[in-house]
Amino acid sequence: MAGENSLIEDLYQDVILDHSRKPHHFGELADADRAIDAYNPLCGDRIKLFVALSADGMGVEGVSFTGAGCAICNASASMMTDLVWGKTKEEALAAFERFRRVMMTPMSEDLAEADLEALGEAAAITGVRRLPMRVKCATLAWHALREALTNDESVTVTTE
Ligand code: ZN
Repeated sequence: MAGENSLIEDLYQDVILDHSRKPHHFGELADADRAIDAYNPLCGDRIKLFVALSADGMGVEGVSFTGAGCAICNASASMMTDLVWGKTKEEALAAFERFRRVMMTPMSEDLAEADLEALGEAAAITGVRRLPMRVKCATLAWHALREALTNDESVTVTTE
């Protein structure tokens, strides 16, 4: 049903707009263990992701970001921080893999219901696949997250 589809698209856009206007966990994180600079030259998105790890290094105690990204970049970063805050490192990395897999799925293919459910609000971002130039805006913060969780130091990532 075309009507239903456009309604769903509108809802998704509202979620994206809400997050981009009032990003969650925006600001520096006191006692962050990692600070990752991330840059997407294609659009000009530039953010810094902060991650605080649990004492044993196995959990994401907190995650936040600062910087200047476009609406899609900010919304995706905001949703990502909601999703992985308080999760184990393993769960957070699995969320990254899931998000990357979904974002690389062509528009012509249906996305797995389980993936969309697991992504929660971040599932709204998957509509960005219609705009291939903007996919890197959506994945920037997630790549920064992976770097934060797999590197022992603070580093810089770019999408190029
Ligand atoms: Zn962007």
